[in-house]
Amino acid sequence: MKILLAASEAVPFIKSGGLADVAGSLSKAIRNRSQACRVVLPLYGDISDELRAGMKEIARFQVQLAWRNQYCGVLETTHKGVKYYFLDNEYYFKRRGLYGFFDDAERFAFFSRAVLEMLHHIDFEPEIIHCNDWQTALIPAYLDVFYRVSEKHRDIKTVFTIHNIQYQGTFGLQVIEDILGFPEGAQGMVEYEGNCNYMKAAIEQCDVLTTVSPTYAQELMDPWFAHGLHTLLQEKRHKMRGILNGIDQKLYDPATDPRLTKNYTANDLSGKAACKRALQEEMGLKTHSNALLIGMVTRLVDHKGLDLVQYAFSRMMERGVQFVLLGSGDWQFERFFRETADLYPGRVGIHIGFDEALSMRIYSGVDLFLMPSRSEPCGLAQMISMRYGTLPVVRSTGGLNDSVRDFGGEEGNGYTFLTYNADDMLDTIYRACDDFADPALWAEHSKAAMGCDFGWGRSAMEYLSLYTSLLQEK
Ligand code: ADP
Repeated sequence: MKILLAASEAVPFIKSGGLADVAGSLSKAIRNRSQACRVVLPLYGDISDELRAGMKEIARFQVQLAWRNQYCGVLETTHKGVKYYFLDNEYYFKRRGLYGFFDDAERFAFFSRAVLEMLHHIDFEPEIIHCNDWQTALIPAYLDVFYRVSEKHRDIKTVFTIHNIQYQGTFGLQVIEDILGFPEGAQGMVEYEGNCNYMKAAIEQCDVLTTVSPTYAQELMDPWFAHGLHTLLQEKRHKMRGILNGIDQKLYDPATDPRLTKNYTANDLSGKAACKRALQEEMGLKTHSNALLIGMVTRLVDHKGLDLVQYAFSRMMERGVQFVLLGSGDWQFERFFRETADLYPGRVGIHIGFDEALSMRIYSGVDLFLMPSRSEPCGLAQMISMRYGTLPVVRSTGGLNDSVRDFGGEEGNGYTFLTYNADDMLDTIYRACDDFADPALWAEHSKAAMGCDFGWGRSAMEYLSLYTSLLQEK
């Protein structure tokens, strides 16, 4: 089986969110099961020199975007046994940052078309192209509009995975002619409710549609979650599957992780206590071991449930807890959390920014990880925290519902609440505070969370079975 995974980010090369973890880990897990899986990414300016060092140029060609004819270089390198292709065009990608530019429509139309064009120039003929999110959503459409006539492209099947429906790649209608260069008969493929919508094109054209948890797959049928695409998704329900993401359990292993102050295991949590103390010192908190330390590592955006935290913050602090947050995003949230650090000196530590090393010190150093998301396609942070023996408090939505079970029921591994309501969240935190007062019970809970298997094994097998059945349809 030959799979080409097209993504706009992948660990360890470039990361802004969970998609990067998925692309980096899934490709490795598939390859470890003896199937050929290669990854294609844009060659961003932000990719470090260290990671560029092993790349070598293997091809150059031109890419047509309506009236434009743009250069594209292909560089390749191998990481942990997986071959990566990087598509190089400095005009589009040699910038600071990944997304949010005035010409994103053009940048990712270029990337999507270049992925297909590349197949004329490399020694790999994928049977399936697995596309991810709006940045690669034009691939299935471009394939059908321009490339089916080519022998190399004729039989390719496409899988499209929605990691987050909120970001659809929506632009003005002029993009269709002026950038995509779609002929008149094909323009309807990307048109949706008066806009050009890249994700809509993929949902319609792909052979199989997946999303990153079974619960999110159901939620997407509901207008509240689907950001305007529910009718289309209901229509395409027959080809939709929800597969829960995993995490790289080797990378995230408290027993060996060199990023931690001290390593530990489920049977000996003393290292975790050292991590907590070091984190308290680093974040300017009093080094009380008996204060419940609550942590968050998150993009500071609306759907992460930050309004609940904001609303309940003072009442949460009344229970004598400590709080640390690492995140960046909307300025209203950044300002709110900065202010809490001034209001609760020695009890609240806030770091605004993106810092992977600090995130690992937080996952290992806090007792409770708060993730009260309004919606959460899968969520990796709750799985990482459990792996480090840190108990999650989550709202049961999307992948949080599929990965966290409340200690009140069978095989509990965290604390959950259902209704999107600050009081319900607070009650749940208070329940955790009560349990924390009993160290033996808390250690037992931590052990249960650490014993959960969130590795890629199960998810990779599900993707492989999906790929296999897709190829059998030929
Ligand atoms: P999303 O993809 O919606 O951001 P996920 O929970 O699926 O949420 O994945 C987020 C990933 O990004 C996790 O690995 C988390 O640790 C990481 N992350 C989020 N914000 C930061 C930050 N400010 N600094 C470092 N890592 C972060």
